[in-house]
Amino acid sequence: MSELRNVVIIGSGCSGHTAALYTARANLKPLVVEGHEPGGQLALTTMVENFPGFPEGIMGPLLVENMRKQAERFGAEYRTAHLSSVDLSQRPFALHLGKHQVHAQSLIIASGASARWLGLPNEQKLIGHGVSSCATCDGFFFSGKEIVVVGGGDSAMEEALFLTRFATKVTLIHRREQFRASKIMLERAQRHEKIQFLPNTVVEDVYDVGKQEVTGLKLRNVKTGEQRDFPTSALFLGIGHDPNAKMFAGQLDTDGDGYLKIHNYVLTRVHGVFACGDVQDRRYRQAITAAGTGCMAAIEVEKFLEEHGS
Ligand code: NAP
Repeated sequence: MSELRNVVIIGSGCSGHTAALYTARANLKPLVVEGHEPGGQLALTTMVENFPGFPEGIMGPLLVENMRKQAERFGAEYRTAHLSSVDLSQRPFALHLGKHQVHAQSLIIASGASARWLGLPNEQKLIGHGVSSCATCDGFFFSGKEIVVVGGGDSAMEEALFLTRFATKVTLIHRREQFRASKIMLERAQRHEKIQFLPNTVVEDVYDVGKQEVTGLKLRNVKTGEQRDFPTSALFLGIGHDPNAKMFAGQLDTDGDGYLKIHNYVLTRVHGVFACGDVQDRRYRQAITAAGTGCMAAIEVEKFLEEHGS
């Protein structure tokens, strides 16, 4: 069974919801495909203090939920599905959502980015058993325990600060001495009595697969080469994200790190395919810039369909 849509939006984070709101208000009846991370990164965060319009801040999950409700009010349709393949060689573009096929006159890619893992020998085996990339999701399970956070950017600071609500001690491990984090976030973490910093250090593995829980880490000091075991109950990663663009490989251009290449703000090299949000933004990666480019992609879709027919 196949259906034909004016516009399909891949992804339901900040950029996807904004694109949905604008295309819905243009009466294009957008279909939004949500994957396995509905709401995107905002759904996994706590308090968002830098989205304009919320003087006291707003919880990330509530912000994306409100965006979705707003888009739905104007007729955006949301569908939970896995995009298994896409054919951009001709219009309407063919998208396979499991067994179901959808054709789209235009496509907005707002598939965002997903958390990075360290690639440790035992890391994947202990995900859900003490290894996590989402403090908001899993922090609660480690009340009264000692926790390690890895990373030197704002995400790591945010995770470390959030985890102090539960942990007796948070150790922040970073591979360098300099931090990428903004001054304000870094200072907040440095001032916190429960947070201890361990710079120039990398994690080489995590124990204990046999017990199906995290009991400690194998660490190496990158300056001295010294290795040691470090007891902890949890390992949280805050080492950044990778763009979700693999499904477009060979059909759209990407840079060396896999971000979609765009020109004129949101245009890809395929006519009628637009990209917005973190999947194409390695520089700013903010909720507000994602929303902004979502709006731009929607306006480009409107113009494109006016010129090329819906
Ligand atoms: P990021 O700025 O790219 O920082 C990633 C950190 O992880 C870096 O310190 C990096 O180390 C480290 N890292 C990466 N791969 C590693 C590996 N394999 N092993 C060990 N360490 C590794 O990413 P982010 O912190 O997720 O921030 C992304 C963007 O979101 C930024 O623009 C940030 O400002 C924003 N953000 C804002 C807030 C807020 O305002 N509340 C909160 C979170 C994020 P190196 O420094 O050595 O490369």
